[in-house]
Amino acid sequence: MLLPRFEYHQPASLDEAVEVLGQYAGEAAVLAGGTDLLVNMKHQAMAPSHLVSLAGVEGLDQASADGGRVTVGPLMSAAVLAQSEFIAANAGALALGAAVLGSPQVRTRATVGGNVCNARPAADMSVPLLALGARAVLTGPDGQRQVDLEEFFVGPGQTVRAPGELLSALEMDAPAPGTGWGYQKLGLRKALEISLVNVAAALSLEDDGKTIKAARVALGAVAPTPILAPGAAEVLVGQAAGGDVFKAAGQKAAADAKPIDDHRGSAWYRREMVAVLTARALNQAWARAQGQ
Ligand SMILES: Cc1cc2nc3c(=O)[nH]c(=O)nc-3n(C[C@H](O)[C@H](O)[C@H](O)COP(=O)(O)OP(=O)(O)OC[C@H]3O[C@@H](n4cnc5c(N)ncnc54)[C@H](O)[C@@H]3O)c2cc1C
Repeated sequence: MLLPRFEYHQPASLDEAVEVLGQYAGEAAVLAGGTDLLVNMKHQAMAPSHLVSLAGVEGLDQASADGGRVTVGPLMSAAVLAQSEFIAANAGALALGAAVLGSPQVRTRATVGGNVCNARPAADMSVPLLALGARAVLTGPDGQRQVDLEEFFVGPGQTVRAPGELLSALEMDAPAPGTGWGYQKLGLRKALEISLVNVAAALSLEDDGKTIKAARVALGAVAPTPILAPGAAEVLVGQAAGGDVFKAAGQKAAADAKPIDDHRGSAWYRREMVAVLTARALNQAWARAQGQ
């Protein structure tokens, strides 16, 4: 199947990219790794007449930490994120999600910005970012704004990003000492699989190495967007980490989930799996928080 005709633009700066996007408002799409966009165009699900590539914009494929804030560039690929020691230390849930996205070939092209802007409910990098408390930095003709990721997604394939805006960074607070992360993905097969359920957890321990100071649990594929499980976090904070409290958090997360029956799995099964995977993700996070 051939791609529909389009004009290709490769701006050399963020300002230029925003200008080109604005010039062709409504007719242009941002091109990152292309693993979603080009596939959709081939299937004629979309036909933008202008593609604005970010490949020439410097600095969008870098991560950094500054003044208690971690910044992840939207053009960082899943392969790079999965192997980065910096990401493992500062945003570990993202490295775990990136490592199980698609296949090695897809991971080489697929970017974190594309995964977030694509806004799929089961996205393997968006769900961890939600657990990390990430914020989307959007740059458009009126300047920059930040949106918490829980407010960024509004439905399958839909976000609050305006057509003239670019996702120029993802930001989050630097992890407190004693923080660990977990990520669990369940599919119908082991590789090249969109999740049936995916769960990301972030857990911070008090100085005693046992009491849970802060927790966030994010769920994928059980609602129209990736969602947080506030009930799970509530059960965890202030308690001693361990199997019983993680199991209770799993039950709360299952109650927070809003799955529906579809051809890949029933709502009942998905809810059961949320409970199991949440407890596993929390155990994984706990082990890492203890430095294991
Ligand atoms: C075979 C295959 C397997 C896959 N498996 C998985 C999987 O297991 N898990 C998973 O989560 N995903 C999977 N995907 C989906 C896809 O690879 C990911 O969502 C990927 O992260 C998208 O990134 P990209 O850079 O390729 O985005 P692109 O295709 O370039 O863009 C995706 C969308 O985001 C927009 N966009 C991209 N970057 C920006 C930006 N900076 N600012 C504004 N808009 C932007 C584009 O305009 C487009 O609408 C799979 C895809 C394929 C083809």
